Amino acid sequence: MPVLGIETSCDETAAAIYDGERGLLAHALYSQVALHAEYGGVVPELASRDHVARINPLIREVLARANLRPDQLTGVAYTAGPGLVGALMVGGAVAAGMAAAHNLPLIPVHHMEGHLLAPMLEADRPQFPFMALLVSGGHTLLVAVRGIGDYEILGESLDDAVGEAFDKTAKMMGLPYPGGPHLAKLAQLGTPGRYKFPRPMTDRPGLDFSFSGLKTAVLTALPKGATDQDKADIAHGFQEAVTETLAIKCARAIEQTGFPALVVAGGVGANLRLRERLGEFARKNNISLHFPRHEFCTDNAAMIAYVGWARRSQGQHTHTLLARPRWPITELETV
Ligand code: ATP
Ligand code: MG
Ligand code: FE
Repeated sequence: MPVLGIETSCDETAAAIYDGERGLLAHALYSQVALHAEYGGVVPELASRDHVARINPLIREVLARANLRPDQLTGVAYTAGPGLVGALMVGGAVAAGMAAAHNLPLIPVHHMEGHLLAPMLEADRPQFPFMALLVSGGHTLLVAVRGIGDYEILGESLDDAVGEAFDKTAKMMGLPYPGGPHLAKLAQLGTPGRYKFPRPMTDRPGLDFSFSGLKTAVLTALPKGATDQDKADIAHGFQEAVTETLAIKCARAIEQTGFPALVVAGGVGANLRLRERLGEFARKNNISLHFPRHEFCTDNAAMIAYVGWARRSQGQHTHTLLARPRWPITELETV
């Protein structure tokens, strides 16, 4: 049952094909990062236009690599939200057009459910129930996952998302856009312990996060005429504060639920220090830990094709186009 997945929610255009028996058959992605770099952030109108230009060749590419004709698919899944409305509409319209032309069911997919279930694309898949730490450019969530679509949010950021905090802090330090990976790289050259930043909201009970204060702490610490070493030391201190805060809250969430597994997904899941820090925690506490491979931490269509296949195989689909810029993950149907 091969299902095509289409992702166009933000600044990555992507297509992939997932099959229940054979797994991921093909995936392809075009990143618009260079297009938006000179503006220091995603320009929605430019993103939509570029999706229009990129998506069809990517779909042709994955069909060719999977050696399939469109009429051999059993469904077309697309990211229906959350995301930029114009960008979502492009992927949705292309998916709806293909579905109509080849008489295929259409499967709207929640982008964050895609991130959440991306570890299912790996050989070492997590078993339900598990705790999920979703850390991306727009979201910071601790989710109790009891099955597909059965999501309970236990904690979330009250202000900036983790990825956003990385990007904003990197921008303040003069690093190129998008700053998260650059800041992480710089942190590797930093002197441990020279800067110690707060671990926000860890001194009180609860599982919510707040990252906007860290930005201010970095700004205050950043000396005028900071040298490269100063910047690396600050980046190190920032990354330690963020990863330790996330690790403390994950430990609390696992303790609270007794769940035996932790899944980490979303772009910040690519952060090596976070992987290392949570690895230590998991080993000590005998928790199984799952990450998607690096390229499936950030936006991709493989995760959308997977969710599309999982929902399609349970009979869920529609024939109408849906675009929901805001869409709480807790409103999904279970399968
Ligand atoms: P959302 O999924 O919430 O809509 P998004 O799709 O923009 O947001 P992702 O593509 O999942 O987010 O992740 C991108 C984010 O991950 C960016 O903020 C980026 O800086 C951050 N990021 C990527 N790699 C790293 C890294 N190694 N360390 C820290 N942050 C990283
Ligand atoms: Mg992106
Ligand atoms: Fe994303």
